[in-house]
Amino acid sequence: MTGIPDILLNNGRTIPQFGFGVFQIPPDETARAVTTALQSGYRHIDTAQMYRNEQEVGEAIRGSGVDRPGIFVTSKLDNASHRPDDARRAFDRTLGALGSDYVDLFLIHWPLPTRYDGDYVSTWRTLEEFYRDGRARSIGVSNFQPHHIRRLHEEAEVPPAANQIEVHPYLTQSEVRAFCGQHLIAVEAWSPLGRGRVLGDPTIDAIARRTGKSPAQVVLRWHIERGDIIFPKSVTSGRIRENIDIFDFELSGEDVEAITALDRGERTGPDPDTFDWIPA
Ligand code: NAD
Repeated sequence: MTGIPDILLNNGRTIPQFGFGVFQIPPDETARAVTTALQSGYRHIDTAQMYRNEQEVGEAIRGSGVDRPGIFVTSKLDNASHRPDDARRAFDRTLGALGSDYVDLFLIHWPLPTRYDGDYVSTWRTLEEFYRDGRARSIGVSNFQPHHIRRLHEEAEVPPAANQIEVHPYLTQSEVRAFCGQHLIAVEAWSPLGRGRVLGDPTIDAIARRTGKSPAQVVLRWHIERGDIIFPKSVTSGRIRENIDIFDFELSGEDVEAITALDRGERTGPDPDTFDWIPA
C-alpha cells in the first residue's frame, strides 16, 4: 500500500493524486518505464497523442496484471487535431493505441488561441461528445488560462474537470490555481520538479537534509500538501521508486510556505497565450 490519496473531481469521479508522466520517454523505453512504475505502486499514467507512446503505455498496462479499472489513464489531444472531425479520428486512434474502450481523462493539450481562428470551444464541444458517450470518463484542459476557461463556462455545457498546467517551486501559479479552486477544477501540476531545475535550490536542500528525504521527494510532497495532482517522470528505476516514496512523511506549514516563496514566475515550457506549435 502506498497511501496515495484520491482527489474528487467535479463530476463525481476520482483521480489518484499521484502518477507517472511519460513525456519525452522514447517509445522503445516507455513499456519498460511504465512497467517499473506499475510494479512500484503507481496507478495513474499521464500520456498524450503528441508523446507518440500511447501504444507502449497500453502494452505495459495490459502486461502488468493489474485490471484496467485499477489504473487511471490520461491522454491529450494533438495540437494538429483541433477541428472536430480531426479530433474524433484522433480520439479513436488513442483508444486503439491504448487497447482500451475508454480513457479516464482526456484533455485539450494546448488552447492554441492564435490558431484555428481562436476557436477552442468547438474542440471542447467535441470532447463533450466523448464524455457523453462514456469513452472519456472525464474531460479537461491543459495550459488553459482563466480567460480561456471562462469562455468554456459561457459557451459550452460540461465544465472542465481538470486543468493541467506547469507548476513547480519556481512557478507557483497562484492566480490560475485560485481560479481553478473557485470553479471546482482540479489542478494537475506538470513538470512538478521543474524538469530537475529546482532540485539544487538551497531552501529545498535544507528541508531535505532536515527531513531525511531527497530534494525531489520534498518538492513532490510540497505539491501533495498543496492539493495538486502530480505525475513526475523518470526512466531510472531507482528514481521511479524514490518519487513515489513520499507518503510516509509530511512537511510543516512553514516548510510549505518557504518553498512557495521561491516563486520566480519562471516557466520551463511555453506561454499558453502565444504557443502555436503544430506537429508536422
Ligand atoms: P519533471 O518535473 O517530472 O522532471 C523530470 C526530470 O526530472 C527527469 O527527466 C529527470 O531528469 C529529473 N528527475 C526525476 N526524478 C528525479 C529524482 N528523483 N531525482 C533527481 N532528478 C529527478 O518534468 P516533466 O517530465 O516535464 O513533467 C512530468 C509530466 O508532466 C510529463 O511526463 C507529462 O506527463 C506532463 N507534462 C505535461 C505537459 C503539458 O503541456 N500538459 C508539459 C510537460 C509535461
